[in-house]
Amino acid sequence: MKVIIIGGIAAGMSAAAKLKRMSPNDEVIVYEKGDIVSFGACGLPYYAGGFFDDSNEMIARTAEEFRKTGINLFTNHEVLEVDFDNKKLRVKDLIQNMIIEESYDKLMIASGASSIIPPIKGIDSENVLTLKSMDDGNKLRALMENENLKRVTVIGAGFIGVEAVEAAKKRGKEVTVVQLQDRILAEVFDEEITNLLEEEIRKHDVNLLLDETVMEITTAGKVTNIKTNKREFETDIVIVATGFRPNTAFVKNEKLEMLKNGAIVVDKYGRTSIEDVYAAGDCATINSVITNKPVYVPLATGANKLGRIVGENLAGANNEFQGSLASSCIKVMDMEAARTGLSEKEVKALGFDYKTKFITDMNHTSYYPGQTKIYVKLIYDAHTKVIYGGQVAGYKDAVQRCNVIATCIFAKMTTAQLGMLDLSYAPPFSRTWDVLNVAGNVSK
Ligand SMILES: Cc1cc2nc3c(=O)[nH]c(=O)nc-3n(C[C@H](O)[C@H](O)[C@H](O)COP(=O)(O)OP(=O)(O)OC[C@H]3O[C@@H](n4cnc5c(N)ncnc54)[C@H](O)[C@@H]3O)c2cc1C
Repeated sequence: MKVIIIGGIAAGMSAAAKLKRMSPNDEVIVYEKGDIVSFGACGLPYYAGGFFDDSNEMIARTAEEFRKTGINLFTNHEVLEVDFDNKKLRVKDLIQNMIIEESYDKLMIASGASSIIPPIKGIDSENVLTLKSMDDGNKLRALMENENLKRVTVIGAGFIGVEAVEAAKKRGKEVTVVQLQDRILAEVFDEEITNLLEEEIRKHDVNLLLDETVMEITTAGKVTNIKTNKREFETDIVIVATGFRPNTAFVKNEKLEMLKNGAIVVDKYGRTSIEDVYAAGDCATINSVITNKPVYVPLATGANKLGRIVGENLAGANNEFQGSLASSCIKVMDMEAARTGLSEKEVKALGFDYKTKFITDMNHTSYYPGQTKIYVKLIYDAHTKVIYGGQVAGYKDAVQRCNVIATCIFAKMTTAQLGMLDLSYAPPFSRTWDVLNVAGNVSK
């Protein structure tokens, strides 16, 4: 059997590696537009910020290592078009400038997503950049290292924008964030948590401009000023972090079901609406554990897991992915925060009959040095008390505690069961009643 995979990063290479291991006689071809594969973009903000120096650490395995396993991996090859009826592809060899035609028995689309570039005047100026590729990371790192470029503006305060703030502060820059919404990380966390994170950012001398829109970037060769709907200020570097759009324009077809944003709809097996065509990762949906519906969660966690399931199914298995909880986490200066399941905003939009509880407690015993506050929000069914979502923030141990809530949601546990869950205790780590037990017990 001949399988073609489009895209060679998290979803595509997870599938290719699994398929080749399970079915070594299959012909597995991967086309990757860029010149590297299996690259973890998650490290980019920390690389640009100088937390580590070797960019190769963001590459899990090289193209050559994959080729040694028998995968026919072609970098610098862009798939231009797919003829789903005749199971054929048109591919451009970007080095030779040559068009190739290739046929397949089964196809996987793992083409990921690209940064959205908002239509702002001057956005193409020098020293204005996004943060998605290795090339972006190298450019931003070089700008950050330049001590003459002191002022950094970040447009958009989602995950990448906020991580870029930490990178710029680590480099000693003066940082301004312009966020269209009235909260940072508004799509991820509820207000109780974003209030804490905003306070943390401001405490570190970041100029946080909420509910404000960038109207124009002015330039004199290089970027000089930002004009918003409320003010104008000078800047040297602009990081555009205004979200992602699935790379699916080249496969648009009336038979291929997509969400409004262009994400390819897949089922629990990673199958699309066209027979023998699979998809996973940032170009596709993923099934929600809670609603059992396809949702768009562009994260490495889901891309790797559903990618691997697709690899198994391409090799002839019939495996279901157990679903996504949209669990995610972030470090915001000295604070950490995570969420899992549904936020209050999401349960409200779904029309669920729900209750919430937000509590503040301490991470461990008072007599062991380093005690600090920790904050937990639970979202749960008003009648059954089954937990729908959880959010945890604090200066220590918040993210891993949220992972406990993820397990509870997956197991369909109630708040009372979380209240009595036998969590471990010793003075340096928690209190006899851990903050999660307390949150469960007061969520009635
Ligand atoms: C700065 C940053 C930080 C992040 N941090 C986190 C984090 O902390 N945690 C987390 O879970 N996730 C994080 N993510 C998200 C994570 O990187 C993505 O979810 C993951 O990379 C998705 O993998 P993918 O394989 O679906 O797509 P991608 O990584 O986008 O890869 C798709 C590949 O397909 C190629 N391609 C596209 N079109 C074609 C074509 N026509 N022909 C051939 N090749 C094509 C592209 O060149 C690309 O290399 C972060 C992302 C960024 C940018």
